Amino acid sequence: MAVLVYAEFVDGKPKKSTFEAVYYAAQLAKQFQTSAVALTIGPADAADLAALGQYGVEKVLHASEAKLEQFQSKAYTKVIAAAADAQSADVVVLTHNSNGKALAGRVAVRLEAGLVSGAIALPDTAAGFTLRKPVFSGKAFAQISIQTGRKVISVNPNSLKPEAGSGSATVEAFQAALQDSDFDAKLVKRETMSTDVVPLPEAELVVSAGRGMKGPENWGIIEELATTLGATTACSRPVADTGWRPHHEHVGQTGVAIKPNLYIAIGISGAIQHLAGVNQSKTIVVINKDSEAPFFKAADYGVVGDAFEVVPKLTEALKSFKNS
Ligand SMILES: Cc1cc2nc3c(=O)[nH]c(=O)nc-3n(C[C@H](O)[C@H](O)[C@H](O)COP(=O)(O)OP(=O)(O)OC[C@H]3O[C@@H](n4cnc5c(N)ncnc54)[C@H](O)[C@@H]3O)c2cc1C
Repeated sequence: MAVLVYAEFVDGKPKKSTFEAVYYAAQLAKQFQTSAVALTIGPADAADLAALGQYGVEKVLHASEAKLEQFQSKAYTKVIAAAADAQSADVVVLTHNSNGKALAGRVAVRLEAGLVSGAIALPDTAAGFTLRKPVFSGKAFAQISIQTGRKVISVNPNSLKPEAGSGSATVEAFQAALQDSDFDAKLVKRETMSTDVVPLPEAELVVSAGRGMKGPENWGIIEELATTLGATTACSRPVADTGWRPHHEHVGQTGVAIKPNLYIAIGISGAIQHLAGVNQSKTIVVINKDSEAPFFKAADYGVVGDAFEVVPKLTEALKSFKNS
């Protein structure tokens, strides 16, 4: 049994979730006493490709044709399936992010493979091949057994901590037979956020605020706390809907689902739809002036108090802690 992992590079660089997927695939291969091969599509530095070896893959295939420079779901699917066939891979691993979600189902159909999307652990092979994943917006877990010979798994970001070793992978060029019809959508324009802040789905520290902040003019104290911690900012849905904050900050059932190590919720009531996207956080801190706010039930630490008093004090305390 061989394992192929799609190692996503964005703007020519691997993401944190890429290392997680590669490490997951390598651990999976170890479990089955086989090896894992990574596949990268699009621009990537040779050194970055070889460095994937640190996370346990021995070989990296690189599909670097110019027409694959931009993400194309149909064409990328074909390349991944072709690489899986070329490597006789029985398991294909991807990251459960927006591109991975677009690819996993298509790859599974092409390979006639069973799919588990959003897995959070390596398979239990005691009786078959069973994966654990959160369901019902994280309120429960399902154990899903894949029955087919070939298998596709997308791995939830932040599900495991990849450990870098000292290995280096060999890099080989890979080409799949692609036709013009594989490129049926074209990226016309891309607007990037001019920020070096960690994107929400990958953030380990998140400072989030809600309608309790009263208006967008009051976000200064939220941003200062986030900057002090090195955290990414998020918000509740009504805050994004009313234009106080950009939509990409909206977390919850209809927004981004996150799984940081620390989630600080300020002036957010803790509605079920909000919790659905944040309840996988390892530690939740709630600051709310209403001691009856439902969020306190989900909190590891709670501060009952006015955000306009508590947040600046917390930021000052963190600053002096950092300085000492
Ligand atoms: C289908 C559907 C999907 C939805 N999806 C989402 C989603 O993805 N994400 C999401 O967030 N919501 C979602 N919602 C909306 C959700 O139900 C809530 O309405 C929303 O989360 C409430 O946002 P909030 O907590 O910021 O505001 P509020 O509910 O108004 O809560 C504000 C909180 O701030 C506290 N507060 C006020 N002043 C202060 C102060 N000075 N200091 C400290 N605390 C203070 C209050 O006590 C209160 O608890 C969805 C709703 C529906 C119907």
